[in-house]
Amino acid sequence: MGLRDRILGRPEAEASVKGASCLAFLFLAEKVGLLVVLLMAETVGPRLYSCCKCGNHVSLHDDVISKAFQGRHGRAFLFSHAMNIDVGPKEDRHLMTGLHTVADIHCRDCREVLGWKYERAYEESQKYKEGKFILEKSKIVKENW
Ligand SMILES: [Zn+2]
Repeated sequence: MGLRDRILGRPEAEASVKGASCLAFLFLAEKVGLLVVLLMAETVGPRLYSCCKCGNHVSLHDDVISKAFQGRHGRAFLFSHAMNIDVGPKEDRHLMTGLHTVADIHCRDCREVLGWKYERAYEESQKYKEGKFILEKSKIVKENW
């Protein structure tokens, strides 16, 4: 039973002007309360992935392009962006999907290799990966969700 129903269920509150303004106030308070809850949900912050070793924030859940990639240590995610990482030297690698120029990416704090960056894809169907980042699922942990 809501605040409104409780007030409306009392005839003496409905009858008086004081009761009516009280009802309006409670109704408004309910609305404001809801708004505060919504604002808090907005300001909790984005869902992040962190380095498994040191907790450095390395990517945002919103930047996930695909979760169906294969890394060197099992499943991996493709991201449009990564942060707080360093990109190593470029090298050509023959992957399951053909020849690519890639560079390992390291956590900027603890130097752990977290995955790689696609610098260049040679096959037309793989071009969408260029400039994107692979992070190994086993090397990152969810934070804030
Ligand atoms: Zn780290």
